[in-house]
Amino acid sequence: MLKADCAKKNQWLAFVPEYAKDSSGQEFMRPRGRSVVYRIVSEDAEGNETYTCNDCGSRIISATVAHPVWDGPSSFKGSGGGSCQYEQVPYCSKCEKKPTGSGIPIRVPFQF
Ligand SMILES: [Zn+2]
Repeated sequence: MLKADCAKKNQWLAFVPEYAKDSSGQEFMRPRGRSVVYRIVSEDAEGNETYTCNDCGSRIISATVAHPVWDGPSSFKGSGGGSCQYEQVPYCSKCEKKPTGSGIPIRVPFQF
């Protein structure tokens, strides 16, 4: 699935990447809605990218954000089986705050 389509279907995602390239061919990635820009340093065979901050040069690290899955009846706010979806959210430890560990709940339509 394309990342843009994935983001449309999964509104709860905390991190949606946007990509750009300059005239020298250097690629950049920016999390949508944030002002920071990351420089893509390398990409391994599995597509895992390594980034440095374009402002301060720090290595970009990632935090785990947990999204509770609400799959119970919607009239019971917050109900569900107690499972979570985990997402890795990148951030610069110098320029940005660590993303909060509790993400937006995922609402799954419930049917009787
Ligand atoms: Zn930085």
